[in-house]
Amino acid sequence: MSSEIPVKQIDPSSDPSDNNNKPGSVELYASRKKIYVKEVKGFFQRIRNVSLLLLMGMYFLFVWITQDGQPLILFDLPAREFHLFGITFYPKDFILLSGMLIISAFGLFFITTLFGRVWCGYTCPQTVWTFIFMWVEERIEGSRNKRMKLDQAPGSGSKLFKKSTKHTVWMLIALATGLTFVGYFYPIRELIADIFTLQANGWAYFWVAFFTAATYLNAGWMREQVCLYMCPYARFQSVMFDPDTRVVSYDPNRGEPRGGRKKGVDPAEAGLGDCIDCGQCVQVCPTGIDIRDGLQYECIGCALCIDACDEIMDKMDYPRGLIRYTTENELEGKPSKLLRPRTFGYGAALLLMIGAIAFTIATRVPGQMDALRDRGALYSFNGQGRIENSYTLKIANMTEVPQTFVLSVQGLEDIQILTQTSITVQSGENRSLPTVVDVPPEAISQSNNEIFFRAQSETDETLLLETESRFVGPTR
Ligand code: SF4
Ligand code: SF4
Repeated sequence: MSSEIPVKQIDPSSDPSDNNNKPGSVELYASRKKIYVKEVKGFFQRIRNVSLLLLMGMYFLFVWITQDGQPLILFDLPAREFHLFGITFYPKDFILLSGMLIISAFGLFFITTLFGRVWCGYTCPQTVWTFIFMWVEERIEGSRNKRMKLDQAPGSGSKLFKKSTKHTVWMLIALATGLTFVGYFYPIRELIADIFTLQANGWAYFWVAFFTAATYLNAGWMREQVCLYMCPYARFQSVMFDPDTRVVSYDPNRGEPRGGRKKGVDPAEAGLGDCIDCGQCVQVCPTGIDIRDGLQYECIGCALCIDACDEIMDKMDYPRGLIRYTTENELEGKPSKLLRPRTFGYGAALLLMIGAIAFTIATRVPGQMDALRDRGALYSFNGQGRIENSYTLKIANMTEVPQTFVLSVQGLEDIQILTQTSITVQSGENRSLPTVVDVPPEAISQSNNEIFFRAQSETDETLLLETESRFVGPTR
């Protein structure tokens, strides 16, 4: 018997609990069969509960936290400012934000190569919100069997009460999610006040309604359908797998031939493997598949089937791990390596990107200065016989506080600014300042000369802006 992890296409519409899913072609969209997920407790469910609480806590709290009067996280689109953990980014920093997204992508690839779809199973927002909605459902409608009976039962007051209570709680969670999401783009305190006093603009209502509806539908109704039909990651993640990727797998060497038996019966004497064919691993699966059919793209790596099977193994006094995190090589009895060329590749790219972005952020100057030459006249002579050039200086303050800059110019002997030599720029402001510079004729030996404008903050000596420009004079 081959012990490799076979990848099979399983028709998700077929009844997973009858264990008769067979390889075959898959329709682009199969009619849906409602999945009643059985609640299970266990080691991996506890890990998910912790990650779920942490992620939800961060999501709902970060939007309220301010630091030195600035929001901890705010994507202020009208002001074109992105506040992230005490640093304000501007459109010119777009490359940094792109770099952070690339780091996230490489991080995902790196983890997927090592441990399969742990992102999907423990941290993906679709999984997190679906598990919260399922938890609410279980509290209100009861266990899997009770929910199935309730759905089949004729309409009654009790059924109406349970269903309406469940949907009301789901809607409230969805509304809190929608408001919080929009709160990352529209200061949350103003948003809440404006929404409930009907003062918000139309877009705010639209986006809150949109994200509320999306959360309610995705986590309450569509659930596994989002993973099966809408998520692109589910489709291409298998290319990151190799025989050493640790994924949730059933061990057919140990489990087969499967079959029911009484507790205490020696499987070897009964000619059976350790799988008692109880179907618990299928009943707890949120995507409704049977892990015993091999690795399938529908598997989100949530490990609920491990918890369910370990519970059965404990009851049968068999060793745990009939379903476990393992690799194709381990199942074939071959040595399995954690670090391999693919992980080194993704890991090296990840470290390189993190290093480059960290260096760029650490050395980033929170301001910018540009000097635009006046195109009207190349140069002129003033009353003192000196040569004048005109510029427009543009100074941006990207710090969190107003800054007064002292302006200077260098590059030619006795060069000086004739106009205003100090300017105050508010936080996030970009100011233009017409500026005239002159030099004595003997200071230039050629018609086109390199000069530098500097803007030194009066209060922050590390904040020095500099830009290069040209000073034009007569040909000598
Ligand atoms: S839970 Fe374990 S014993 Fe039960 S059917 Fe699944 S693999 Fe077999
Ligand atoms: S097969 Fe197991 S790990 Fe995969 S989605 Fe189903 S319960 Fe989760």
